Amino acid sequence: MGILQVNDVNKRFGGLQALNNVTLDIEEGSVHAIIGPNGAGKSTLLNCFVGRLVPDTGTVMFNGKSLLGIKPYEINQIGVSRVFQTPEIFEELSLLENVMIPAFAHRDGAFRINAWASVGSEGEVRDRALHVLDDVGLVDKKDMIAGSLSRGDKRRLELAMCLVQDPQLLLLDEPTAGMSRADTNNTIDLLKKIGERGITKIVIEHDMHVVFSLAHKITVLAQGTVIAEGLPDDIKGDPRVQEAYLGG
Ligand code: ADP
Ligand code: MG
Repeated sequence: MGILQVNDVNKRFGGLQALNNVTLDIEEGSVHAIIGPNGAGKSTLLNCFVGRLVPDTGTVMFNGKSLLGIKPYEINQIGVSRVFQTPEIFEELSLLENVMIPAFAHRDGAFRINAWASVGSEGEVRDRALHVLDDVGLVDKKDMIAGSLSRGDKRRLELAMCLVQDPQLLLLDEPTAGMSRADTNNTIDLLKKIGERGITKIVIEHDMHVVFSLAHKITVLAQGTVIAEGLPDDIKGDPRVQEAYLGG
């Protein structure tokens, strides 16, 4: 049984069937990529995992517990973190403050079931935040204002804001979008490093270089429907994928 089990999820926006009987099983500790053309429903699907959207029908279970009908912050507190397609950071605050805020939010939450339950003083939160900034290569910039960072560094900061919460499941929506090749490669290395800690990751990604560098398993969505799923080598050669995604 996977850490995240998605069964027959449907989501409609007016006349548009954005998700059509989507079923997924995410293996614990794996990197699972979700690919597909623009408008395929990838972000909509992630939104259904974090409480931003509620599916019309279907189930989403995390560690055997339904994620439907519980609030985004509660989902976060039970171990699911998300990096958004557009970085959501506090532009006017320092990097250190940016990372300390989610740590406090996590500590003060209603659910206290993971390692963060024991976090107490501001000093401890600060130490933890510095440690995570070091992990993502931003500790030297800790006092800079977040708004002044490059695009690549903003993404790294957002990743630190997730990691400080010690998630079991990390959702990444196009983590390398808009990055230079060098920044993209740094991000791949960073995500590999995080993978060594056993955090399960779901990555939505357009860049096939990133997908094939990271993913253990790939699901292909097109027009809200899962059209293929398998190991990277299987997906590479799948004619349906070539047609739907790579444009034939
Ligand atoms: P992807 O992330 O794969 O590019 P999305 O999940 O963002 O695709 O969108 C899937 C489809 O649903 C698109 O056609 C998009 O326009 C539509 N859509 C997404 N969110 C909404 C919304 N809140 N209201 C109406 N339509 C939406
Ligand atoms: Mg999207």
